[in-house]
Amino acid sequence: VDEEELERQRLIASYSGVWVFIEQTEGEPARVSWELSGSGRGLADTLGVPLSAVIIGHDVGHLADEAFRYGADQVYIIDQEVYARYRTEAYLEAMCYLIEKYRPEIVLMGATGMGRDLAGAVATRVKTGLTADCTGLDIDARRNLMQTRPAFGGNIMATILCERCRPQMATVRPHVMPLPERKELKPGKVIVETLPLNEADIFTRVLEIIKDKGGKDKVDVAGAEFIVSGGRGLMAKENFYLLEELAEEVGGVVGGSRSAVDAGWLPPERQVGQTGKTVRPKIYIACGISGAIQHLVGMQDSDVIIAINRDREAPIFEVATFGIVGDLFQVVPALTSKLREM
Ligand code: FAD
Repeated sequence: VDEEELERQRLIASYSGVWVFIEQTEGEPARVSWELSGSGRGLADTLGVPLSAVIIGHDVGHLADEAFRYGADQVYIIDQEVYARYRTEAYLEAMCYLIEKYRPEIVLMGATGMGRDLAGAVATRVKTGLTADCTGLDIDARRNLMQTRPAFGGNIMATILCERCRPQMATVRPHVMPLPERKELKPGKVIVETLPLNEADIFTRVLEIIKDKGGKDKVDVAGAEFIVSGGRGLMAKENFYLLEELAEEVGGVVGGSRSAVDAGWLPPERQVGQTGKTVRPKIYIACGISGAIQHLVGMQDSDVIIAINRDREAPIFEVATFGIVGDLFQVVPALTSKLREM
């Protein structure tokens, strides 16, 4: 083995531990951070290393206890006024400072607006790789992080390794990983760092934050526990009232396939799948949806999947817990009226 390779191996061996970036806005943590804490816990146990939570913000000390409840062994905190609101420049400095000082082998972030922005900037600065939108994380026999994600338009699942650089960085979309149990508080080590950074060093100012007001059509499909989804089989926008009625009966929401969204039958935020939302409801009812891989990657981890399709060969039946081969225009109203009777 040549000297250069040995040097690289030594460098890689000098990185240790699994980190999860705890995303927060005004002190409110993003649920995906706890989902990742669950995955990170598993990875850390496999490797036999600690799981650390990284909290950056202002007045965010309370999040340390939450991080311990969700499985962290230790917490790194940078709590300064300059971090009160997310800005790439400031958070980049903080994250890179911590990574260069403490050298984690794995860094996980949510594939949210903030996580996607920060992860890309950090990976570039510390000269490492980044796998975005992972759907699976595991450790291989050589202790590398196996990062699995859909590729080629969802037609294959690719497992990506970052063998020659550290840290290994990945983002994961909300709801892809299950939320772990929030356990009794067992506090661990808290490492507080302060950076010599203030407003004058940052060239970005947040002038105003305009909150999304929601509205009649704004439905949180990603967070719903019961989803009735419609596809091209619905034939027309007018027919979606059938799904609305069923969803209403069980306190759920209506989602759909990309075909339904492209046809203008549903607003884009209701799309489930690779280029839409990833969902993990208790019950997912797919009506007139064929089950293309790009749709399946967004809903296949639902607890119970009920598929209604008149084509018994439709791929949706391969992931379905219960399948009904039939005409949705008969099955859905029958289901709704049965539920009304109950
Ligand atoms: P179809 O495939 O046309 O299926 C309609 C189904 O309805 C058929 O199985 C048919 O048997 C059934 N049917 C018809 N009439 C009835 C009836 N009366 N009763 C019962 N069943 C009936 N798709 C997504 O959904 N989400 C994504 O995020 C997404 N991202 C994509 C990203 C890329 C890069 C690409 C290339 C594609 C993506 N797609 C996505 C599109 C995907 O490949 C499929 O084209 C799409 O999911 C098909 O939608 P569908 O099942 O509604 O329509």
